[in-house]
Amino acid sequence: MVANHPVVVIGAGPVGLAAAAELTERGLPVLVLERGATAGAAVVEWGHVRLFSMWRDLVDPAAEKLLTATGWRRPGDEGYPTGREWVDSYLTPLADALGERVRFGVEVTGVSRLGRDRVVDAGREEQPFTVRVRGDAGEERLLARAVVDASGTWGSPSPLGGDGLPALGEEAATERISHRIPDLSDEGTRIRHAGRVTAVVGSGHSALTALVSLAALAEENPGTKAVWVLRRGQVGDAFGGGADDQLAARGALGQRAKAAVEAGHVEVVTGFRTAEVRPDAGRLVLVGEGGRALEPVDEAVALTGFRPDLSFLSEVRLGLDSTLQAPVELAPLIDPNVHSCGTVYPHGAKELSHPEEGFFLAGMKSYGRAPTFLALTGYEQARSVAAHLAGDHEGAARVELTLPETGVCGGSGLFEEPEAEAGSAGCCGTVPEAVEEPATGQGGCCGGLAVSEVPVLSLDDNRTASSESGCCTDASPQKTELAEPNRIS
Ligand SMILES: Cc1cc2nc3c(=O)[nH]c(=O)nc-3n(C[C@H](O)[C@H](O)[C@H](O)COP(=O)(O)OP(=O)(O)OC[C@H]3O[C@@H](n4cnc5c(N)ncnc54)[C@H](O)[C@@H]3O)c2cc1C
Repeated sequence: MVANHPVVVIGAGPVGLAAAAELTERGLPVLVLERGATAGAAVVEWGHVRLFSMWRDLVDPAAEKLLTATGWRRPGDEGYPTGREWVDSYLTPLADALGERVRFGVEVTGVSRLGRDRVVDAGREEQPFTVRVRGDAGEERLLARAVVDASGTWGSPSPLGGDGLPALGEEAATERISHRIPDLSDEGTRIRHAGRVTAVVGSGHSALTALVSLAALAEENPGTKAVWVLRRGQVGDAFGGGADDQLAARGALGQRAKAAVEAGHVEVVTGFRTAEVRPDAGRLVLVGEGGRALEPVDEAVALTGFRPDLSFLSEVRLGLDSTLQAPVELAPLIDPNVHSCGTVYPHGAKELSHPEEGFFLAGMKSYGRAPTFLALTGYEQARSVAAHLAGDHEGAARVELTLPETGVCGGSGLFEEPEAEAGSAGCCGTVPEAVEEPATGQGGCCGGLAVSEVPVLSLDDNRTASSESGCCTDASPQKTELAEPNRIS
């Protein structure tokens, strides 16, 4: 009987563990498979970065119930944890509370149906899933009634190349090219950047975070400089929504990056699509399409987004959007080419489903290459998928979440838009026509949340706005045209 097997969740990150808590609350057996040694193994890797979400937005409701029963209390709502603190104060206790439902050190290497490859129709849905894992004890095959793949995208950062492929010479220069936000509290990393020139490639929150950190280093170490390399023709809204961002810390990040540029610690290069990386006497020269070469730099940090690893899902019948690699029903809601701030609404089992009944992508991975993923979104996905698997279809369809918007209408910013049009792509300007999107306008980016004093933040190119509310003040449908999607990094 398929129903006798557990639901297998891939990944013990924030969303995988939330899914386990939601399934447990509904009385369904669950097994979480995590390749790392700890809960939140991916978050640990960016543990030095402070989140722009407050504690109250970082704890899944079912997880909180489970934890509260153990005597756990949520840290102060208004605080902004670092990634490390999120892991230590929430994800680790949650994994402990889930106990044997979570296995560490096991990597999922394949998912299929028992005795059926992706081609075979006959009896397909009556067969359990087979989940192939590799760990210290060797290979194993587990059976599952359903699979929730919450394995994130952290393991597959996008390359430097402006066309999405590694730039020529990129792979040979890995010693000087990183795809992570530098942790300047680490002495070795600090030495790599202090008094030197670093190219920061990418336009999202991770790039902004890197610029802010490098600018702080420059205050103490003369000669430290960042070169901010953007594909878009102008900076445009790359500094984010500022005071109009409903996540104040996220809005403030852009303002800090702007200040770093104004202070002269950051040189901005726009309209540059990296095609090649050439070694140059121990330094690197970035060469753009068309042959334009930048001044040599000592290091390059590519914060150009992430992409989903679909390699272990080859035997599953996925329904993925050809652009974003996100589930087909979800993709139009999150496509940075077309959606304006405030148009991504919470979603669940229906939007996450695939032709393969019982298989779901959830969390960061469900967004494919789209930006703007928030843990809150993932928690709502987890709740809905758990309800669906428990047979509560009314509960699965119900939306129980309100998401904050970025204050950047047109979300993704500009590609090669001329200066004169810059204003028109902004929040409150006249927006060029293209794709019609419903928006429920609540003041949005034209409203005015004060930028509070917040810690230096985080995040990636990818996330922008998941929100229930519109960008401009009217509630009429908006039409926006975007050129270059932001990328997570
Ligand atoms: C720098 C940075 C700052 C961020 N700040 C915020 C913020 O302020 N607010 C916010 O809401 N979100 C923020 N995010 C987004 C954040 O990443 C997500 O909200 C959250 O981590 C997504 O959780 P997840 O469980 O989907 O994926 P992940 O956290 O990536 O977890 C996936 C897990 O799956 C495991 N895994 C991967 N492949 C396999 C496999 N084959 N087999 C078994 N296990 C596997 C990984 O080891 C990992 O533990 C930030 C992201 C970054 C990178």
